[in-house]
Amino acid sequence: NADMAMYHAKSQGRNNLQFFTAAMNAAATERMAMELELRQAIETGQLELHYQPQVCTHNGAACGVEALVRWRHPQRGLISPLAFIPLAEETGLIEPLGAWVLEEACRQFAIWRAEDAPILRIAVNLSAQQLRSPGLLAQVEDVMARYQLIPGELELEVTESEAMSDPERSFDTLRALRDLGVQLAIDDFGTGYSSLSYLKQLPVQILKIDRSFVKDIETDENDASICASILALAHSQGLKVVAEGVETMAQREFLAAHACEYLQGYLFAKPEPAEVCLGRLRELSIAAASP
Ligand code: C2E
Ligand code: MG
Ligand code: MG
Ligand code: MG
Repeated sequence: NADMAMYHAKSQGRNNLQFFTAAMNAAATERMAMELELRQAIETGQLELHYQPQVCTHNGAACGVEALVRWRHPQRGLISPLAFIPLAEETGLIEPLGAWVLEEACRQFAIWRAEDAPILRIAVNLSAQQLRSPGLLAQVEDVMARYQLIPGELELEVTESEAMSDPERSFDTLRALRDLGVQLAIDDFGTGYSSLSYLKQLPVQILKIDRSFVKDIETDENDASICASILALAHSQGLKVVAEGVETMAQREFLAAHACEYLQGYLFAKPEPAEVCLGRLRELSIAAASP
């Protein structure tokens, strides 16, 4: 593996420049091979979406689902988005990938709606590059029209750092998306460094508290107070909050006590293929209806 070769090359000392260069070439070659493979994966339908419910805190019924992309590689099995989204962003492949994800998520949502699935909306992650793409608005408008999505049924998640990287410009795009009836969420909130004045101007309806703050909410006083502060701040701005990565009842109780509207995490369901997720959505809704 190229990383190992590089590591060995470095540990050989500076005399081994030749070996080091070879290792760098190997890394570059590996990357190019993966780029080519990813391009083919998009074209030949190796990507798939898994869906994770977002539930209402008070009764545990699903209100929405988040679509999360995976790559079903013919040799390497299911690959996590963390292993290929960054490459897609660096190579421009995020545009066709993101377009496929948006299309597929809306298509699945329309099927679920026709089947009377107990959900109100579908959330899709957008990368910074998509947010900056001049074609984004037309693309979103087109997909919403084709699948007859009404305002509030499509939610787009952008991370805090993406939204803040070029605030003037991304705020304009976010406002235009909002005017199309898209619900907007700031993902991984708390990991960036937004100032309060920017937060006030952000044309979004939802903040998602990053999983890293939820994880130790029961044991780490700092994390508990960060979560409580984010909730108070969001509510003071009229925003609703989704807590990510909820795995335990104690986390759920803490978040409920701080009036967090929605929860997402393994406590309720993992991201799963559409058919499995539909069963899960029905289970959650039955459990919510029975006292
Ligand atoms: P994210 O949008 O913050 O998604 C939440 C991640 O947390 C998902 O990881 C999900 O599987 C994981 N998760 C949810 N609940 C729990 C829990 O209770 N415990 C733990 N340990 N993890 C939990 P996943 O699916 O690996 O996705 C990772 C990231 O990849 C996403 O973070 C998102 O930033 C990115 N991503 C995924 N799909 C897409 C996509 O279609 N487009 C773009 N641009 N990015 C995507
Ligand atoms: Mg997300
Ligand atoms: Mg997140
Ligand atoms: Mg996250």
